[in-house]
Amino acid sequence: MDLTYTAEEEEFRARLRRWLARALPALPPRPSPDDWPGRRAYDLGWQRMLHDAGYAGLHWPVDAGGRGATPTQHLIFLEETERAGAPYVGANFVGLLHAGPTIAAEGTAAQRARWLPPVLRGEEVWCQGFSEPGAGSDLAALRTRARRDGDDYVVSGSKIWTSHAEVADWCELLVRTDAEAPRHKGISWLAMPMDAPGITVRPLRTLAGSTEFAEVFLDDVRVPVANRVGAENDGWRVTMVTLSFERGTAFVGEVVACRRVLGELARAARENGRWDDAVLRRRLGRLNAEFRALWRLTQWNVSESARTGGVPGVGGSVFKLRYSQARQSLYDAAAEVLGAAALELSAEWTLDRLSSLSYTIAAGTSQIQRNIVAERILGLPKGR
Ligand SMILES: Cc1cc2nc3c(=O)[nH]c(=O)nc-3n(C[C@H](O)[C@H](O)[C@H](O)COP(=O)(O)OP(=O)(O)OC[C@H]3O[C@@H](n4cnc5c(N)ncnc54)[C@H](O)[C@@H]3O)c2cc1C
Repeated sequence: MDLTYTAEEEEFRARLRRWLARALPALPPRPSPDDWPGRRAYDLGWQRMLHDAGYAGLHWPVDAGGRGATPTQHLIFLEETERAGAPYVGANFVGLLHAGPTIAAEGTAAQRARWLPPVLRGEEVWCQGFSEPGAGSDLAALRTRARRDGDDYVVSGSKIWTSHAEVADWCELLVRTDAEAPRHKGISWLAMPMDAPGITVRPLRTLAGSTEFAEVFLDDVRVPVANRVGAENDGWRVTMVTLSFERGTAFVGEVVACRRVLGELARAARENGRWDDAVLRRRLGRLNAEFRALWRLTQWNVSESARTGGVPGVGGSVFKLRYSQARQSLYDAAAEVLGAAALELSAEWTLDRLSSLSYTIAAGTSQIQRNIVAERILGLPKGR
């Protein structure tokens, strides 16, 4: 990837900057973290504005309703929206960042036409029903079963840690369609409507005090066979596509935000006298180098995934491992620079700090990313 910008790309940046300057003042105030209907409406409203201005699904393929923008334009979009303080994906994250891209890559023409436009237009929210009480890191141990009955699957079981289930219209759901097959061979990937009879959502409160995710109980839920993405029992392969998006590209927008937070921290340290501490300065310097390297890795991953047909590879595990740890170190450093004042800054800041703890767990723990890097990139033997 060429890291200098062409005149055309600079023009794209300038146009986007002008649009953001006009659009952002029109946004309503951000709802409180606990106001889920408010958060849904706010995030969908922003997505709608992006859509109407031609910025939705910028880097998605054109035949999936996207704009087919270059990787560089996508990164410029992330840089500029963050610089302007625009909202990020919010409640739309599963739809925009991994369910949507999976359907774009693996769905039929009819499935793309049904599910992708409402995601891009900000009309429907998705959640992810992968993890179960006995299947997290070992996802292939999942037991939620789907029995074929005519044109439907009848699904029973339970999911856990389902982010945004409370406000979702659809769930990317993993089910076991063949209990006799070897465990990776009997799984299917379904799109389940969240208003189907038999679904109970029980919100779980996090350390940060908000109900970001939920338990989801499924009791004879009927899901049309036509909602299966990929072949029956080929869901593990489709899942790997979803996870490659989740680890490979879903966090990239946040790297820009972390670089901004680091800049704010350095400024705060200069103002409150902590800058005189050489150990702290070195720590901030190391973080600066880390986030610059992560941004370069992001550029490489994004352009590599565009080059190889749009699906990120296992390089996403390297990124996810380093990013989740760097994010935690950033908020640890913030606590040191700001002391008790960090708690008083704003509710959002405190939430970000507490939620940084979850980043080494969500989307596959650090231990699991290390196993993937060891086995699939370094070629080391599988652990027993
Ligand atoms: C904020 C957040 C949001 C989430 N959102 C969703 C969501 O929307 N949908 C969804 O389906 N899931 C979601 N998850 C669940 C997440 O994917 C799981 O928590 C994660 O995969 C770990 O599974 P587990 O919690 O069952 O832990 P376990 O798998 O029980 O792991 C426990 C510990 O054992 C370690 N361990 C396990 N196996 C190995 C191994 N082979 N080698 C080395 N160490 C190992 C783990 O690293 C971990 O430290 C979310 C989680 C978080 C924190």
